Amino acid sequence: MPSNPVLQLYNTLTKLVEPITPAAFIQDTPHLRFYSCGPTVYSYAHIGNFRSFLTADLILRTAQALGWKTTYVTNVTDVGHLTEDDLTDPSGEDRMVKALQSKEGERFANIWDLARYYTEVLLRDWDSLNLREPDVRPRATEHIRQQIEAVEQLLANGHAYETSQGIYFSVASFPDYGKLSGRGHDADALEAGAAAATREVVTDSEKRDPRDFALWKKDDAHLMQWYSPWGWGFPGWHIECSVMAKAYLGETIDLHAGGEDLIFPHHECEIAQAESLTGKPFARYWAHTRFLQVEGEKMSKSKGNFYTVRDLIAPEPEGRGIDPLAVRMALISGQYRKPFNFTFDNLKAAARHVQRLREVSALVAAAIEHDAPGDAFLAPRLDALYAKALAAMCDDLNTPDAIAAVLEGVKLLNGVGANLNGASARRAQTWLDQVNALLGVVAPEQSPSSHPDTTDDPFAEQVEALLAERAEARKAKDFARSDAIRDELDALGIEVMDTAEGAKWRRKLSI
Ligand SMILES: [Zn+2]
Repeated sequence: MPSNPVLQLYNTLTKLVEPITPAAFIQDTPHLRFYSCGPTVYSYAHIGNFRSFLTADLILRTAQALGWKTTYVTNVTDVGHLTEDDLTDPSGEDRMVKALQSKEGERFANIWDLARYYTEVLLRDWDSLNLREPDVRPRATEHIRQQIEAVEQLLANGHAYETSQGIYFSVASFPDYGKLSGRGHDADALEAGAAAATREVVTDSEKRDPRDFALWKKDDAHLMQWYSPWGWGFPGWHIECSVMAKAYLGETIDLHAGGEDLIFPHHECEIAQAESLTGKPFARYWAHTRFLQVEGEKMSKSKGNFYTVRDLIAPEPEGRGIDPLAVRMALISGQYRKPFNFTFDNLKAAARHVQRLREVSALVAAAIEHDAPGDAFLAPRLDALYAKALAAMCDDLNTPDAIAAVLEGVKLLNGVGANLNGASARRAQTWLDQVNALLGVVAPEQSPSSHPDTTDDPFAEQVEALLAERAEARKAKDFARSDAIRDELDALGIEVMDTAEGAKWRRKLSI
């Protein structure tokens, strides 16, 4: 058995690819304490959001494949995320409130209903794209008490101050501000201030430093408000992650992840708050996922290249009915830190790869009952290919190389094909399970019943009946009838393949 490779990731804090060494152990086994920023539940999550959640999922899977213990926390932001979040102290409207007031928001009874709906959708998309469940999925609104306590502590230890509009973190009180992003110095702050002014955003003139950011906003008219020592209001966005990470993972966590847009100001502010509260380093490693482009352009609603996960995987006509595992495969086909161009061509290629994995799984499952002596050559070659895939993942999540190793294995198994016997099929099954645990692209892990395939397809009976009729027609050399049936199947979105064992069918890729 070869020894495990070393998991290495690019650390935004040090700008180096570094070996990840969890600080704690559980009975000699490394224990990774890991926090990843989740979405703001004001709308359907888009594929760019999910690419970042998938990076966290792949880190988790790789750590687990190495045999580590993991505690994985990813939050749901359901309050406090304002529209101008690219500024250190965002202003503008709360994204949740804005969503409620939009056309799509009309169907919700109130803001709590909206938050609940989009959280439920998120969880379904999460399952569909085969992401592993976190150990804890805390919601900002369920941790208001802890956030208020943290703000009180920051006021007490001189890192925060009060104005008539809110409580602010004093950036000048934390000399390390800017250590993650390299930003947050005066020039950036002035730039941010100027941007705010040109957008006619109301800023608080009582702020001591333009870099200071809100910990608590006083607002007794906000749709989500809580009573605090400073009256009615709601927490700033950044404080939730500092507080919830500490609550579930301790004062110093191993790894913190998120999209590259979160480096500044969100993660910079999380560090300032958390380290000012504890006096200890907040996170030892920081991993950030690069934004994706769609068909070579920035994804935007106005360009018509904006895709939510729902747009792709929901059955027609609501969505495009694309296999969720194909979407997963496409989104992980580029390394998380490199520029990534999501195209329908690579989605098609991903769908073919997932289809091949599914077909080889069926081949292996069918061969498991064959009672014949094992093939000696197959096991070591599959072992080597899995080791190659794991080593690629440990190399800063080199997903393209990992996927290439997996496809090599598929080719190998297809080459053996019908000669696969019981012993080698069992080994192949183990290999497919290992590959699925590492990359999640072979089969759904969460709820197989919610992912229909041809075996439990609602059309299955109808299709089988038509195929039987077509076989009869062909036997009777009634080709006009057999062609008509093929057209009928085609209209149902079914592709027929004539093989030596008779006609087989599958759903056509709807892309
Ligand atoms: Zn966060």
